[in-house]
Amino acid sequence: MRMRALTLAADDQYEMAIPHRLRTLAIPTVVAVFVTAGVGAISMWRVYDNDRLISHNYEVKSALDALLSAVTDAETGQRGFLITGDSSYLDPYERGTARIHNALEQIASLTPDNPTQTRRLSELRPSVDEKLEELRETVAVRRTNGFEAAQRIVLTDAGKATMNRIRALVGDMHREENVLLTTRRGQSSARFWTAIATDTTVTLVALVLLALVASVSRRREAEAETRDRIALRLAAIVEFSADAIIAKDLNSTITAWNAAAERLFGYTAKEAIGQSIRIVIPPDRQHEEDEVLARLRRGETITDFETERMAKDGRLIEVSLTVSPVKNASGEIVGASKIARDLTPLRLYATELEQKVGERTADLQAANTRLEAFAFSVAHDLRAPLRGMHGLAQALLEDYGSRLDATGHDYAQRIVDEATTMDVLINDLLAYGRLSHVELAISPVDLREVLDASLYAVRDDVQRSGAHVDIAPQLPTVQGNRSVLIQVFSNLLSNAVKFGGRDPRVRVWAETREPRTAQVWIEDQGIGIAPAHQERIFGVFERLHGTETYPGTGIGLAIVKKGIERLGGRVGVESQEGRGSRFWVELPRAEAA
Ligand code: ADP
Repeated sequence: MRMRALTLAADDQYEMAIPHRLRTLAIPTVVAVFVTAGVGAISMWRVYDNDRLISHNYEVKSALDALLSAVTDAETGQRGFLITGDSSYLDPYERGTARIHNALEQIASLTPDNPTQTRRLSELRPSVDEKLEELRETVAVRRTNGFEAAQRIVLTDAGKATMNRIRALVGDMHREENVLLTTRRGQSSARFWTAIATDTTVTLVALVLLALVASVSRRREAEAETRDRIALRLAAIVEFSADAIIAKDLNSTITAWNAAAERLFGYTAKEAIGQSIRIVIPPDRQHEEDEVLARLRRGETITDFETERMAKDGRLIEVSLTVSPVKNASGEIVGASKIARDLTPLRLYATELEQKVGERTADLQAANTRLEAFAFSVAHDLRAPLRGMHGLAQALLEDYGSRLDATGHDYAQRIVDEATTMDVLINDLLAYGRLSHVELAISPVDLREVLDASLYAVRDDVQRSGAHVDIAPQLPTVQGNRSVLIQVFSNLLSNAVKFGGRDPRVRVWAETREPRTAQVWIEDQGIGIAPAHQERIFGVFERLHGTETYPGTGIGLAIVKKGIERLGGRVGVESQEGRGSRFWVELPRAEAA
């Protein structure tokens, strides 16, 4: 049902175009066919008319011949009777006389519209009458007065002269008919070829037009077939889409409802089509439809609008809607297509995913903690033999120093130095590991006091470098752990002195940030850090220089980051290479007492 509805809708759009185009070509074609038929008929009629006139000429000519033959027959019969006196010769004479009259009437009836022939006929009639009279008189004389008397009349040559006149007039009339005949034959042939040429031309034009109409309609048919195929394919896509696809008009009346819409909302297409789309909108969200309609009328498309819709059984479904205006052939907005995606599976999947990520993170954290605990215990266990090595080397130098030559002395001293370096490293590692394990007691800590303690912890470095350290007299009290904070600021101050250049100048101050945060700055004017390295220096063993240039373990800033994060704060740096560094630490401020 629905697929058919879509197909029809697609056809509707083109319904106007095809007949119009066909009409444009069909009208001249029909006209051409009628003209062809008309011209053909007229041309043929004119040829036929001419032929009729030609046969008329022949009729006139044969009537003239009949007249002449009748007169000749009558004269022959008269001559026979005159010479022989045998009355059997009077038969042809009488038959001839009788035919003469008929022949004259026929000529008269055939030539009434030809004035020349009528005039000649009027000249012919008295001559024929005269001839008949001469014949009748000689026959009568022969009967009554005998051959001699009749011969005398004949010898006057009056009859011969009449006969010559008749022959001459008949000859003239023949010539007249011959002239007409020649003209008409010429006309007949010309008309025949004109008719053929006209008919051929018009027929060709009609054929071309017909071919055009045929090709246009074939193309239209092919286009219509393609449109049908596309419409069917689209209908199939809509029907089998996993998302609900609905069409509605601007009165919110549902006009299409695919299978996924049936599954999602529980209404069959039969139930839904013709109803208002508001049946799937929960009562407290009805205003959304008004807003959607207003936006559609403005030609807007609404994408990924997350909301709730209601199934037939009253169940609320989380959906993401995409609503686009539908236009008719003339571009007017007549409705909307709506794609409703059920977000429930997505939400379930997201929750499942979050749960899995949580589990994996917990596993990783546990593995990390176990690894750190292992490193911590290894470091711890290494400390005792190291201290032993350090003490023995020290004892060697003190108790047997006088017996060692210079090389032996140097070796023993290097054992003491290396053991010291290793001890620092192990201490740093233990400090870092401890930060992961130890429960940290959080309480208000006076930062000014912490900074004093930190400065005291690095007093040797400060003295050695001749650094000038300026700590602001007023520093806030924060929520934290005193010993962790002393470690953090000792490391930062030690770095500021170490990387502070020839004449280190270190400045420490604090700013308050809302809500309830303190930001402490440790600024030096030393070698600075390129932006590319500013993140990674907070990782374990990340160093930007060799130990010959700047001694160190690469754990100091890792301890800073871990310590501050365990206290719920943040740490960072602003710096440019060669232009000093400003490390900052953000911590929650303690409640004012
Ligand atoms: P260490 O100081 O033992 O090398 P840290 O973890 O404290 O290790 O510092 C890591 C690296 O960060 C240092 O080696 C140094 O390259 C860079 N760095 C730290 N503080 C500063 C500073 N104030 N100025 C310039 N570079 C610094």
